[in-house]
Amino acid sequence: MSGAGDEDIAERARKLFSGPIEFLKSAPGLQFLPDPQVPEIAFAGRSNVGKSSLLNALTNRKGLARTSNTPGRTQELNFFDVGQPLQIRLVDMPGYGFAEAPKDLVKRWKHLVNDYLRGRSVLKRSLVLVDSRHGLKPPDRDMMEMLDNAAVNYQLVLTKGDKVKPTELAATLERTQAEARKHPAAHPHIFTTSSETGSGIAELRTAILEAATS
Ligand code: GDP
Repeated sequence: MSGAGDEDIAERARKLFSGPIEFLKSAPGLQFLPDPQVPEIAFAGRSNVGKSSLLNALTNRKGLARTSNTPGRTQELNFFDVGQPLQIRLVDMPGYGFAEAPKDLVKRWKHLVNDYLRGRSVLKRSLVLVDSRHGLKPPDRDMMEMLDNAAVNYQLVLTKGDKVKPTELAATLERTQAEARKHPAAHPHIFTTSSETGSGIAELRTAILEAATS
């Protein structure tokens, strides 16, 4: 895309995310999903990766996505309406990777997420959040495999970038990029963000709008 085009979409994304954004509903099962009206972008990540903080930073609202670190309390897909008239929906998927999570809970999570990923025609991209301090862990790889198998395009986002030294961050980014290249549905570009400092947030807004409108 040309430079001028890039500016256009960045400005459109900025405006979109500073306009009306509202929580729509929580869906604990597929029968509760909203009608597939607009493009959806879904957020995945291990519990505590900084998903709620990132959603709040993207939307410039402190309490939009609620933090819940209680395993079992978050087995729902949360939908957020962006724009008025409605333009896109952000979908907060339940966090994964609790070592102590009971088996039936993990099973329920898998069913809900997998069914959503496989059956949702309006799902344009999933963002898989990875903690900059830890890099990819086995549960992230499972998630990536699930997305590969569901043929859902996804993009990795390193969170909490402010928590690691720039050299360490660069090394983690490189390692993560190398691994992403081996996954058929993974986008080659990886974002580095900090919800604390705001770094990378504007770029991610632009990428979301681009993915939603492509
Ligand atoms: P979630 O479980 O994935 O929704 O994670 P949260 O958004 O609740 O974040 C988990 C913890 O990490 C909280 O204590 C946040 O304050 C902290 N956190 C999240 N994002 C960042 C970030 O970008 N920088 C720093 N320093 N802390 C963060």
